[in-house]
Amino acid sequence: MAVLEVRCPACNGLNVVRYGRQPNGKQRYLCQDLTCTRRIFLLRTPHESPLDRMPTEMRQVIERALAGGSIEETARDLRLPSGTVAEVFGVLARFNAPPTGVTRSTQALRRRRATG
Ligand SMILES: [Zn+2]
Repeated sequence: MAVLEVRCPACNGLNVVRYGRQPNGKQRYLCQDLTCTRRIFLLRTPHESPLDRMPTEMRQVIERALAGGSIEETARDLRLPSGTVAEVFGVLARFNAPPTGVTRSTQALRRRRATG
């Protein structure tokens, strides 16, 4: 794991220690500089992708889906139940152009919901 230089966003000081986690799992930090106006803060990581916070398996499924992989192939390669993989593909289809593996029934379902 890479060592990060954590600076307080208020005083820019390096007198910072880890201070537990947010309910969503984000690392919290505490500035120990007594003159600082800010005490607890979260590290801003502009390069962080939402995918970074996901379990590796979920990320792999999403990457496969976006790369146009099929549900069966993804399930087999990652040794996951095809139902689970299909679920992830289906969720992605709601946000993006459907990956090639998405079944027609999923798309029909979407259309029905859209037209109400
Ligand atoms: Zn500070």
